[in-house]
Amino acid sequence: MSIDDCDVLIVGAGPVGLLLALMLRPKGVNVKIVERQRALYPLPRAVAFDHESRRLFGSLGLTEELNPILEDIMGEGGENGTNYVWRDADLKLIVDLFFEAPTRSGFPLSMGFNQPELEQLLDKTAIQRNIPIMRGYTVSALDQHADSVDVLLEPVTCKQGTTIEERDSPIATKGGEAPHTRRVRASYVVGCDGANSTVRRLQNFSMTNLDFENDWLVADILLRDGYVPPEVRKVGAAQICDPKRPTSCVWGGIGRKRFEFMRLPGESKESLLQDDTMWGLLAPWGFTKDNCDLERKVIYTFRARWVDNFVKGRVTLAGDALHQMPPFMGQGLNSGFRDAAALAWRLPLILSGVANADAVLRSYQEERLDHVSRLTVDCVQLGSVVCETDPIKARQMHEALRKNPPPGFYDPPLGRPGILTAQPEAGHLSLQRELKTGDGQHLFDEVHGYGWMLLNLGDTSAMSQMSDVSCRFFGDVLGGKCVSISPSEDTEGEYRDWFDTHMGLDHVVLIRPDFYVFGHAAVTEVDGLVEDLRRKLSGL
Ligand SMILES: Cc1cc2nc3c(=O)[nH]c(=O)nc-3n(C[C@H](O)[C@H](O)[C@H](O)COP(=O)(O)OP(=O)(O)OC[C@H]3O[C@@H](n4cnc5c(N)ncnc54)[C@H](O)[C@@H]3O)c2cc1C
Repeated sequence: MSIDDCDVLIVGAGPVGLLLALMLRPKGVNVKIVERQRALYPLPRAVAFDHESRRLFGSLGLTEELNPILEDIMGEGGENGTNYVWRDADLKLIVDLFFEAPTRSGFPLSMGFNQPELEQLLDKTAIQRNIPIMRGYTVSALDQHADSVDVLLEPVTCKQGTTIEERDSPIATKGGEAPHTRRVRASYVVGCDGANSTVRRLQNFSMTNLDFENDWLVADILLRDGYVPPEVRKVGAAQICDPKRPTSCVWGGIGRKRFEFMRLPGESKESLLQDDTMWGLLAPWGFTKDNCDLERKVIYTFRARWVDNFVKGRVTLAGDALHQMPPFMGQGLNSGFRDAAALAWRLPLILSGVANADAVLRSYQEERLDHVSRLTVDCVQLGSVVCETDPIKARQMHEALRKNPPPGFYDPPLGRPGILTAQPEAGHLSLQRELKTGDGQHLFDEVHGYGWMLLNLGDTSAMSQMSDVSCRFFGDVLGGKCVSISPSEDTEGEYRDWFDTHMGLDHVVLIRPDFYVFGHAAVTEVDGLVEDLRRKLSGL
């Protein structure tokens, strides 16, 4: 049996695995993907794409191709231009959760999208960028050694089923012989193989489960000529907290609407999936067979759980394999993209010997576990208001939420200690705003690019204050850039406000490739800041 070698084997060519591969490749990492399916999953799933994901996709040069598949959803919430609302059974407003304050990333808080279109974009880009994807294989064994992991891949045999497995079939080799078992030796393995992760099972990763599980009938509607019934326009994007039938009515990407109906106690999945039941549930919302088409109906179980220890030796996980959260905040897939971004700068530094593997992989857990568990707990709290089927309890919950509304969506900071200083601004997303340049206004990333950055205000960058040692480490080893923003570029004074409020006008901020702030220091102390980063990466 031949052995393929690679630096990183990614198991699963879903959106998270593909994004991770695309981010690793330009850093010189020999990355391969194994995927059990021969074709992309064609039906809708996640529908919310947030500002941070947008910036990450920008870093891959995909902005132009991404923009046409994103749908503006702000102001979708029916009357008064609300955004994403919780309503009671009488459709009275309980709370509006989206707010239109500018996000740190400079993009709208969230946009609608249709997951298959995003996966097509990622898959096409992976092929164009020569990322090998071994389709039609599943992982059957993982054997960890001191310096590598041996992974056994079995061809997927054709199964009859009613779910994703329908598409499983072995890929034929060139000569037409049956495909055979393959072995891959990788320095690191990342399981991006979804909620039922094989990698997680094979390596015995344990999980914390909040036991918040509900089955929902998900109905994805294709609009005919853009027709949205007045009933839906009136409620907009909403969670209908109706104890008789908890219902979600949200965006679904351009030309689509997504409805979700919770399975009630005692109701069978089979009866809920009946055509008549589903059209009966859609009827009060004005959607009928005569004015729309159904793209998908499926029972989907919302779960709230995460893996306890993110790393086992040379194996780690990302995306749904690592965590699953109910969809009420639209953060499940976006959290997976954050995992990919967090690994995409860590693994190359580990592979090139710049970073200490134990310390830097441990920091993946420290930073991401806190973030993911906070979001999941928030989703459960908000979701429990939606899912309550006892009318008295439901009314009490609505009143409590009305009296004490949550602050709206927010970006939790990364967990500590991580690869961060102890400063309050460390672990928060860095600011991106438009800069005035010779040819108009452009977003910071378009002007200055991506990667490690040392950013300060004024006409001179912090480079002028850096020793040769710092320049070599930050510039040559990390490939970082020093950038300054002058008042004439920062015409709205937004960078000035950010520095003034959170760091200090004479400070330089060190920004990581995943856009999070590592820390900051007076420009004259920039060497100390860079040395602090070097030590943390070295595990000192
Ligand atoms: C049926 C369904 C409906 C969903 N509906 C919603 C929704 O309504 N709203 C929402 O927010 N989210 C929804 N989700 C979740 C959302 O799609 C996920 O958060 C997102 O897809 C996670 O991306 P991922 O790349 O981590 O995992 P996935 O998209 O699950 O991708 C994992 C990939 O790994 C592959 N794989 C699995 N096992 C192996 C193996 N052993 N060997 C090789 N490859 C393997 C799979 O074939 C798949 O391509 C849904 C998911 C599913 C499955």
